[in-house]
Amino acid sequence: MEYVIAPPETPSLAVAGNGARFPVRRIYCVGRNYAAHAREMGHDPDREPPFFFQKNADALLESGSRFPYPAASRDVHFEIELVCAIGTGGSGIKAPDALGHVWGYAVGIDMTRRDLQGAAKKLGRPWEVGKAFEHSAPCTRVHPVGAAGHPVEGRIWLDVNGETRQDGNLNELIWSVPEIIEQLTALFTLAPGDLIFTGTPAGVGAVNRGDVLTGGVQGVDEIEIEVI
Ligand code: MN
Repeated sequence: MEYVIAPPETPSLAVAGNGARFPVRRIYCVGRNYAAHAREMGHDPDREPPFFFQKNADALLESGSRFPYPAASRDVHFEIELVCAIGTGGSGIKAPDALGHVWGYAVGIDMTRRDLQGAAKKLGRPWEVGKAFEHSAPCTRVHPVGAAGHPVEGRIWLDVNGETRQDGNLNELIWSVPEIIEQLTALFTLAPGDLIFTGTPAGVGAVNRGDVLTGGVQGVDEIEIEVI
């Protein structure tokens, strides 16, 4: 194939225990999927259907990297999340069949320009300016299901400079991974290489240059980034 300009690189993540990489197509994110976080954002955590937004795959930032404080914001927040990596796609997938489509899991941080997101919400505008900026998706290696299984319980936490700020458990997810896949594939066709950021527990907060963010999901992995 001949292109008129150099084609962009395929974004990818390292795979635990394997020299090969996991190529990433789309990044879907679930909003308000832990009751305590929904409450802290001023919403009723009743079980209304989940909603989704996207980040761009080239916004991935590998764990262990530096996160450049983004332009145009003075209120950049962390959101620690379990990330689900899709191995086989489809649409109309039902929850009982959903886990068969999952290739593995990782730990990510849904970095958010909260001030720009808040302004967009107020005006009824899309969330991209708040969510889909450069380096906004720090993420660990992907752990194959064969090695790590399907995590349904376990601590999910984030520390800033060693001080715990988010401390939840996967068993508090309002919508489970299979339910998320059912709802998501009622709207979109999932494909191999898609990632799903499954939502964050309570305790989100602002970062400053020089902060070191560490966190993890018990039984999956731990993540670290430094804000510069
Ligand atoms: Mn999030």
